[in-house]
Amino acid sequence: MTDTADAHELTELRALSTSIGNDPHLTQAAGGNTSLKLGDTLWIKASGTWLKDAATDDIMVPVAMTPLLSAVEARDPAADRPQAFAIAALNPRKLRPSIETTVHALMPQRVVLHVHCVHTISLAVQADCEAQIAGRLSGLRWVFIPYFRPGLPLAQGIAERLRPGVDVLILGNHGLVVAGETVADAELLLKRVTTLLARPGRATAEPDINALRQLAGDSGYGLPADIEAHAVAIDPESCRMAGAGSLYPDHVIFLGQGSVVARPGENATRAIERCGAPPMAILFPGMGVLMRGDASAGAHAMQRCLADVTARVDVTAQLNYLTAAENDALVNWDAEQYRQKLNAGG
Ligand SMILES: [Zn+2]
Repeated sequence: MTDTADAHELTELRALSTSIGNDPHLTQAAGGNTSLKLGDTLWIKASGTWLKDAATDDIMVPVAMTPLLSAVEARDPAADRPQAFAIAALNPRKLRPSIETTVHALMPQRVVLHVHCVHTISLAVQADCEAQIAGRLSGLRWVFIPYFRPGLPLAQGIAERLRPGVDVLILGNHGLVVAGETVADAELLLKRVTTLLARPGRATAEPDINALRQLAGDSGYGLPADIEAHAVAIDPESCRMAGAGSLYPDHVIFLGQGSVVARPGENATRAIERCGAPPMAILFPGMGVLMRGDASAGAHAMQRCLADVTARVDVTAQLNYLTAAENDALVNWDAEQYRQKLNAGG
């Protein structure tokens, strides 16, 4: 921190980060991240931490931006480990910068907000996403980035497509980035874009809690933390979409590949036997969702996200799912860092 104006700006960003982190339609668990450029130092949310804790906990890490950008430009694999660029003298807790640090560094604006907004994701999984966005964001300076694995591949995908003046990125099968010169500008743009992309979720019936308790039996499975999570199993269209594969990276990281949908007559124990390994969640069509007993807070948040996203997807749309190779790349990539993320997700 060089002076009080810088400190004040970082405090402003931390307050905004907390409000973004408290909105499950904008971020879930350790997903999403925010940053502020002060000179050549990029202050960014630490990997595995939750945005909602930004105001009360010290979760912003300083990163040396110039060497990081040089590594991205040189396609140096070091850019996939942003912790190598953290400024140790200003990082006493030895926090690791977000895996999405390169995305923030590439944007020229001082303040960058990256969110896993459920409205944006619901459009970003549709094959007609670009046309949908064009209709809603006309007049704004946005660019569509097709799906790339977060980290260096995504950074390179952005670097190749970024044009001067662009301050909105729609990340295919992933989320939204907005940027501004001040915290207030970025907040205003986030509000504007998310309002333009907003669409209501399909309404569903209430979950059948008694039936779910019976289906759980002595399996150790229990109810999701949020009652909203059940909708993905209750709504037949959402259940169909979820059952067909993985739609975005944090789903794979927190819940595993795709979703397990119970077959007619199956209870939790029989569904687990069929899978061979206990899945993080089981969807019971028309009734609701059961979660594994040891599911983390992050897994619970991500299960609700799946309901919020699929409820907004156009039922006639063709969907882009992550391919088998893309799923594998997420499961196998930098396992240590992901483990840290999961653990921190509690
Ligand atoms: Zn992200």
